[in-house]
Amino acid sequence: MRRKLVAGNWKMNGSLAALAELDAIAAAAAEHGEVDVVVCPPFTLIAPAAARTPALPIGGQDCHGAAKGAHTGCISAAMLVEAGAGLVIVGHSERRADQHETDAQVRAKAEAAIGAGLRAIVCVGETEAERDAGKAVAIVDGQLDGSVPRAGTGETLVVAYEPVWAIGTGRTPSVADVAAMHGAIRRKLVALLGGEGDKVRILYGGSVKPDNATELLGVEDVDGALVGGASLTAAQFVPIVAAAATL
Ligand code: PEP
Repeated sequence: MRRKLVAGNWKMNGSLAALAELDAIAAAAAEHGEVDVVVCPPFTLIAPAAARTPALPIGGQDCHGAAKGAHTGCISAAMLVEAGAGLVIVGHSERRADQHETDAQVRAKAEAAIGAGLRAIVCVGETEAERDAGKAVAIVDGQLDGSVPRAGTGETLVVAYEPVWAIGTGRTPSVADVAAMHGAIRRKLVALLGGEGDKVRILYGGSVKPDNATELLGVEDVDGALVGGASLTAAQFVPIVAAAATL
């Protein structure tokens, strides 16, 4: 039985004042102790977030694949740990698109994260054109081949399936399509990681909201959610945590 994980990705949103939202999120996480909850604010808010709500796990949204060096503007996994993070998202589709991150770079980031003692959420997902062309499973399969660290375990690795066309659009795949994709990802993880592949949590991400969370989180092999827009306020995020706790 895999524990559900609900992860909030604030992207480039938030401020010191916005950290007030964490109070109610931390209270919900404590109330629903059977669910793992993490919030990933921008880098500059990690330390103040960790200080404000010490019991609520905080994550980063990216890290570099190298431990240190001449990489202006980048953050290492060890720096995230020092700031108070316990987890990091790598390979988000926005970074794959905006920063042209490759599967190999995403894998290096995940390996660096795990090596530094972080959990890594490796994101995969197809574009709308790829789905329309009937290539969704093949694309995700290839991303997993290239991005998944082979030393990943159920403890250190999480995979997030995020169809690019569903992120921030209010659109979601059908339950049948989510089930088919998560089943394919599970089979791939077992092929890559053996028994550990069965323990790795697979999150669904893309327009998860309070009103669709129960349906999406109830799909087989959906072990939680990666939530963007709806993680910015406790009013939206807490009901998603509560929905996960009922499943
Ligand atoms: C995301 O960016 O990871 C995401 C899922 O965003 P949203 O929930 O806003 O679609």
